[in-house]
Amino acid sequence: MIEVSGLRKTYGDFAAVVDSDFAVDDGEVFGIVGPNGAGKTTTLKVVAGLVEPTDGDVTVAGFDAADPEMRRHLGFLPEESPLYEEMTALSYLRFFADLYDVPGEVADERIGAALDRLELDHRERRLGDVSKGMKRKVAIARSLVNDPDVLVYDEPASGLDPVTTNSVLAFTRELRETGKTVVFSAHNLYHVESVCDRVVVMNEGRIVARGSVDGIRERHGETTYRVFTD
Ligand code: ATP
Repeated sequence: MIEVSGLRKTYGDFAAVVDSDFAVDDGEVFGIVGPNGAGKTTTLKVVAGLVEPTDGDVTVAGFDAADPEMRRHLGFLPEESPLYEEMTALSYLRFFADLYDVPGEVADERIGAALDRLELDHRERRLGDVSKGMKRKVAIARSLVNDPDVLVYDEPASGLDPVTTNSVLAFTRELRETGKTVVFSAHNLYHVESVCDRVVVMNEGRIVARGSVDGIRERHGETTYRVFTD
């Protein structure tokens, strides 16, 4: 579903991502783990078609990542999601559904289902007045309004309280059961170990380990585990 081959992204002389290769299968939950500045966001933005690679090939659902048609198949959750503070969760999500030309009844059903699964209350409250956890859940619901095949989530569980973190991670895991393919980043291996089928570990722009979390721990030992986690 996602193929990344020979990806390189430089800013001037600085290489944010170097020689990155990975593939994500249809229906897989795939994690990109690494410390701050490892190149996770850059990688995800290239996959989402938001950043042009300096080198390499990236395809999503059979489309080149730069092809605007690819966007119809993808939902992106940025690390910080700017929300319109004056809108309610419902009006905000209906607004985005409209942008994707989703018919009203379909949109309401989809939005309701996502918010129910995310256990989001206060749907009529101004977004400026809700907690960070609720805002994150609204942003996650937004990523689903166009019913994409592929979801790209940048640190969806970072900076949340433990209950909301678990709820977001459980929701991510459940997406696989609805046939979605998910790739998400984290700087905490604990966040990915209960959710992901496979992970790559990045450091300083390079993939330094790959496989299952257990496999990475076995092959690279607890040192790698500690170095790359909070
Ligand atoms: P974090 O966990 O802090 O979000 P990350 O793993 O997502 O880190 P990136 O945001 O991909 O890392 O950044 C990788 C490196 O590329 C960092 O050193 C960052 O400063 C640099 N970088 C990212 N975007 C740009 C840009 N537009 N211009 C210059 N340097 C950039």
